[in-house]
Amino acid sequence: MRLPIKVLPEVLVNQIAAGEVIERPAAVVRELVDNSLDAGATRIEIDVERGGVQLIRVRDNGEGIAADDLVKAVARHATSKIASQDDLAAVSSLGFRGEALPSIASVARLQIVSRAAGESQASQLSVTAGEIGTQGPAAREQGTTVEVRDLFFAVPARRKFLRSERTELAHIVDLVERAALSRFNVSFRLRCNGRDLLDFPAAGSLAEQTTRFGSILEPQFAADSIPVAARSGPVELAGWIAQPTASRARADRQYWFVNGRSVHDRLLASAVRVAYRDVLYHGRHPAYLLYLSIDPELVDVNVHPAKQEIRFRDSSQVHAFVRHAIEDALARGSTAASATIGSGASARLPDESSPPQLPLAVARADDGEMIVTRPAAGGQSAPMVREAAGAYFGRVLGQVHGIYVLAETARGLALIDMHAAHERVLYERLKANVGGLAASQRLLEPLTISLTTREMQQALHNLPACAAAGFDITQISEQALLLRAVPALLRDASAAVLLREALLVEERSEAGHHLGGGAERVLAEIACRAAVKANRRLATDEMTALLRDMEHTVRIDQCNHGRPTWVEFPLAEIDRWFLRGR
Ligand code: ADP
Ligand code: MG
Repeated sequence: MRLPIKVLPEVLVNQIAAGEVIERPAAVVRELVDNSLDAGATRIEIDVERGGVQLIRVRDNGEGIAADDLVKAVARHATSKIASQDDLAAVSSLGFRGEALPSIASVARLQIVSRAAGESQASQLSVTAGEIGTQGPAAREQGTTVEVRDLFFAVPARRKFLRSERTELAHIVDLVERAALSRFNVSFRLRCNGRDLLDFPAAGSLAEQTTRFGSILEPQFAADSIPVAARSGPVELAGWIAQPTASRARADRQYWFVNGRSVHDRLLASAVRVAYRDVLYHGRHPAYLLYLSIDPELVDVNVHPAKQEIRFRDSSQVHAFVRHAIEDALARGSTAASATIGSGASARLPDESSPPQLPLAVARADDGEMIVTRPAAGGQSAPMVREAAGAYFGRVLGQVHGIYVLAETARGLALIDMHAAHERVLYERLKANVGGLAASQRLLEPLTISLTTREMQQALHNLPACAAAGFDITQISEQALLLRAVPALLRDASAAVLLREALLVEERSEAGHHLGGGAERVLAEIACRAAVKANRRLATDEMTALLRDMEHTVRIDQCNHGRPTWVEFPLAEIDRWFLRGR
């Protein structure tokens, strides 16, 4: 039989809301730390016991809650952060829904002790499973302490969903680390069962910030990540991304912050993934730490009660902006350091004459040194800068074991993997041809390429990419193609053979290809097949040409599979080998 319709009691409403807001102890930590940050705290101390189930205590030195407001703070839909629809549309605080404290209070034992700025004494309020308990004066300096005991004791069904203490603690650690990455100027300390787990002093200088994020991501990341800085109108991107050669087997260590809020956003993650696709081996993942600032009106944070999901008003524009900024940073790669100002070296800025002119983005590389880059515009990566002199990769000394080129550089010795480097040079040129007028070289006699009917299907799919790269090729029957011209830059290679391989390349699953239909995969295949093979003897002028080509190629530091193309031995290091003091 159907029950009559009833309005649910307030405590039950809060417990239902708690189901969404407080999925586990770490979510309580998140809500309380968010409140401390919204209150302008510069010091936040977190204590937990038994994975947060027995106790979560967050203590801050923020602006505090006035004694008269304490009861309101635990009332549903009560907030000091927004007051109107307009406020909601432009919200910049982490909280705004006014449901965290009542939700927590409805499923646990909550105590708040707070002293507001300017008040002569603190006051406290206790709530047990939604029932307001004692209230009265207390002792405390300015700030707020919120204590949550016996989480979910009032909803035993929820307790069953908790994982082991260790797992819950791991989620809390992740949460506090994210908070620490979101505000470098705030000090954080996390203690578990009385033992210090995390301790982050306030980090003002870049060196201190690097120490903080290095200890969270890993010291190696801090040592050799690539700085990112780009701006386009109301959107700004800053942060650090891993060198492609430092990729990881798992997609962890990827942090996104939007207007100071840690978010899990598929759109942003995809933009980075696409940008790395050219330089990362399939199935590997980069670590990164990225901060997006955007006009709050252009992003909706009120998508889910936990507020970790967001929605951009113009998602494709944000995606393109982020992708280009990351591609640009990767294209500069480790060469960023050579384009520094103030180092006294012959630094040169990316081509000033190429329109459209965007504002220069400036990032601090090391203390005192500024990296200046021009943010990517309309899909074009800024030209890479090696050194004004041009001879970054130096003078050829010879070929080593049929695989490497040895060169003397201004800084020491360089070993270049000739196949990997040549492959990258060819790939970038093939891509640059696409959409433009690819220079072709006519064959003296057209060549017929025979295929099975099934192969023809795949070939027709890849044909446009090959055509764009400079192959003049037409279908003449169900099982034959006619090749009349090949890209000029491949004239030496056995073009017909490699074309056949390229035509039969199967698409990778990644969607959102900017050349469309797996074209890059086809071009990468062509580049790999056409690049010089091991054991081919190269004449000195061929090797010199390769070095000069490398200097003008973006992303030259890695081959198409993410392996390094060259390494350098600085003279100082060589001197050390010989115990030679300088
Ligand atoms: P919201 O954060 O969405 O406003 P909450 O339920 O988390 O909702 O908190 C309710 C209110 O309690 C906040 O709007 C704020 O005024 C006050 N408050 C909560 N925690 C703190 C704190 N640590 N310091 C100062 N004020 C706080
Ligand atoms: Mg809140």
